[in-house]
Amino acid sequence: MLPDLPFDPACVLIDGTWRRTTETIAVSDPSCGKILATIARGSARNIDQAVAAATRARDGDWGRTPALERGRILNRLSALITDHVDALARTEALDVGKPLSQARADAMALARYCEFYGGAADKLMGQTIPYLEGYTVYAMREPHGVTGHIVPWNYPMQIIGRSVGAALAAGNACVLKPAEDACLTALWFAHLAQEAGLPDGALNVVPGYGGEAGAALSAHPGIQHLSFTGSVATGRAVQIAAGANVVPVTLELGGKSPQIVFDDADLDAALPFLVAAGLQNAGQTCSAASRILVQRGVYDQVAQAMATAYRTLRGGPALDNPDIGPLISAAQKDRVQEHLNQAKGLTMLAEGVLPDNLPAGGHYMAPRLYGMVPPDHPLAQEEIFGPVQVLIRFDDEADACRIANGTAYGLVAGIWTQDGGRQMRLARDLRAGQVFINNYGAGGGVELPFGGHGLSGHGREKGFEALMGFTTLKTVAARHG
Ligand code: NAD
Repeated sequence: MLPDLPFDPACVLIDGTWRRTTETIAVSDPSCGKILATIARGSARNIDQAVAAATRARDGDWGRTPALERGRILNRLSALITDHVDALARTEALDVGKPLSQARADAMALARYCEFYGGAADKLMGQTIPYLEGYTVYAMREPHGVTGHIVPWNYPMQIIGRSVGAALAAGNACVLKPAEDACLTALWFAHLAQEAGLPDGALNVVPGYGGEAGAALSAHPGIQHLSFTGSVATGRAVQIAAGANVVPVTLELGGKSPQIVFDDADLDAALPFLVAAGLQNAGQTCSAASRILVQRGVYDQVAQAMATAYRTLRGGPALDNPDIGPLISAAQKDRVQEHLNQAKGLTMLAEGVLPDNLPAGGHYMAPRLYGMVPPDHPLAQEEIFGPVQVLIRFDDEADACRIANGTAYGLVAGIWTQDGGRQMRLARDLRAGQVFINNYGAGGGVELPFGGHGLSGHGREKGFEALMGFTTLKTVAARHG
């Protein structure tokens, strides 16, 4: 059961007021398929109202709130999130189907984002620029104004933290469209933000379908910046819609991220990262290490060790804190199954265990590990977004780099080797927004700028860099003689 929610989940939040919508959406618990809550089905009209409210906040109280005070509000919000971590984690586990400990980590990350951006708000400075004799020139960082945030279902709290947290710190007024499958913690976040003292209209939340509220937000002429995380197809649609208004977009669209294991790697250290970074959140992670590239000399050893680890993995309902929870929905399970239908002819090295007594309506899928997968096979090229990893064998460094860079994506990469020169060469040559050496963060680290190349998207969120993305630069040139 859900904890007692201190807000009405069938509402949108616009201009500080929780309003019921005429139409609603029933959302279910992925662990059992039963109805969990009824949420608002936000409309294009609600988006209009939310953008208008954000515009008033930008031009009013919020726009005049000093950076120090914005930071204090975010720090109070961080403390409130920390106070509610258990309830937020339980809500997320039930809404997304993610194991309770992972949901708890997400809630802690949300608090940490607010702390990080709260601390950074008054340290965002401009530049003075040497220019001609008799001039003083400076460039100041300004918020875009009204920012739109379209968030997926896989990591709602983390993605809200890294985009809305940074946007508010920089002084923007936000309109947030959470995913229709998982919006409860987004609403809870907004409720706590009100309690922390965020002025009305600085954060507006409109849950609803992508094709309705999402499309209306991405095409809205009153938005000055859009941040989108989700699928490539939707990301393209969002960019095209925003393009019509010449609005800048940050896109984070997933990946096919490799971890590369060389013969000289510390395998004991690598093994837990190889498996966990692929299967966290049942593989529904944009930065999942879904390809494991292994050098010939240790290939059999790594394959055997990973297969052994897989056979101990247990699926189960999110609140039981299993190794692998259910997938978010029946539709997502069907999508993963469609990918797996292409696996005919491949060697399945191991499969996890699904206990017999799982709730019948849950969307469970045993994790699968495939071995000796050709680098150009669809399972080694396409983002599956489910509990599936492929092992690919390589011969030397050049081979590894070519295979690692050989997909349309470029989000994260991991390197396991003791050779310092090789670490540096690959860190330089890998086409990825983040490279981890002898560890793998799965996008982790609030402080670490994150984003992709190619179909993984563009722009950077997280870290101090996100503040740059949520601001624009105004140059002031004064001629004074
Ligand atoms: P999606 O891209 O359709 O949805 C992500 C967000 O975009 C949701 O809030 C959704 O309501 C919204 N949206 C949908 N259509 C829209 C539109 N036309 N205009 C504006 N917003 C719109 O993703 P999904 O259907 O939830 O999942 C499908 C696939 O996307 C998954 O299988 C996976 O491959 C990928 N995905 C990637 C990530 C990631 O973190 N990169 C996250 C979720 C899903």
